[in-house]
Amino acid sequence: MSYKLYIPGPVAVSEKTLRAMAQPMIGHRSTDFVALYNSIQPDLQAVASTQDPVYLSTSSAWGVMEGSIRNVVKKKVLNCMNGAFSDKWNDVALRCGKAATALKFEWGQPVDPAAVRRELATGAYDALTLIHNETSCGCMSDLPALMKVIREFPDVIAIVDTVSSLSGMPIPKDELGIDVLVSGSQKAFALPPGLSFLSVSKKALARAATVSDRGYYFDYLEFQKNHENGMTPSTPIIPLIYALKSKLEDFKAEGMPARFARHARLNQQVKNWGLAKGFKLFPQDGYGSVTLNCFANTLGYDLAALNKILKTKHSLVIDGGYGKLKGKTFRISNMGDETDATIAALLGSLDAALAETPKLPA
Ligand SMILES: *Cc1c(COP(=O)(O)O)cnc(C)c1O
Repeated sequence: MSYKLYIPGPVAVSEKTLRAMAQPMIGHRSTDFVALYNSIQPDLQAVASTQDPVYLSTSSAWGVMEGSIRNVVKKKVLNCMNGAFSDKWNDVALRCGKAATALKFEWGQPVDPAAVRRELATGAYDALTLIHNETSCGCMSDLPALMKVIREFPDVIAIVDTVSSLSGMPIPKDELGIDVLVSGSQKAFALPPGLSFLSVSKKALARAATVSDRGYYFDYLEFQKNHENGMTPSTPIIPLIYALKSKLEDFKAEGMPARFARHARLNQQVKNWGLAKGFKLFPQDGYGSVTLNCFANTLGYDLAALNKILKTKHSLVIDGGYGKLKGKTFRISNMGDETDATIAALLGSLDAALAETPKLPA
């Protein structure tokens, strides 16, 4: 059975990308690999607007999210939490044996810069975690405003998750002063899962050098040493690196400004559709994500039934709510390669499917 994913990750992967993966293997210490790695680097740096290297990690994003905690936290980390992924990052920090404070906001509310300033001003912290785009509830915090506050505290290493936003909108890493940027392959990049991106500033590398229990697999210093030779610390997921090269060519062919504009336009089209149907956006007004929409199920549809109809009759699936929001919200991705035509087709299918979807008893 074949159907198209409109869930916010993993998202649909193009035929071109799939074909790019089907190439002969090369040794990861060969000159061919070094050439591949080095050819990708400038384009990845351009996507993140950074002079720092962008390391390639063979893991999902959680690998480098956990690894970053282990590399830079010595004193205490402030975990800004407003959804499932940011909540879990606090749990992960504690599981790594780190001192951590949970700075909690309601799911769907953005991280408040004033609250971050109040906490950091205590002087208790040497690191902070922040999720730019909380995919679980479709909430996008104001990254420039938050980074402005965080940069008042030069000793605090800011680890910023851009897993579902990088390449969907401008994220000027160096200009904003982001120390550590993490992202993944299967969301906005529209690659298969299994590869993640990690860009670390000199300041964060220097911090890592003073931490003794960084481990090996996600050690910043190992990444840096190998990067200088055009390589990764251990055998990387070479098919996905072929796919990444192909995808970065797509980015260049479209042009990043056009790519960002396409995401904004398609996001608005889905938002307009949902609001016209009578749904409300789940996140606070003005803080909706540009790469997905998370609607509150204010009309009380049976979302499991809706997805069954979408899958069997329209060969597509949306998301019926993450974690505690299951059944209460639904999420629709406009990440990756979506076009005006694919979004129009999706909305047509949604109209047809909703017309035959039962509502749950109130
Ligand atoms: C999907 C996602 C993650 C987790 O990514 P994995 O690839 O499953 O490790 C983390 N943060 C955000 C914002 C996400 O959307």
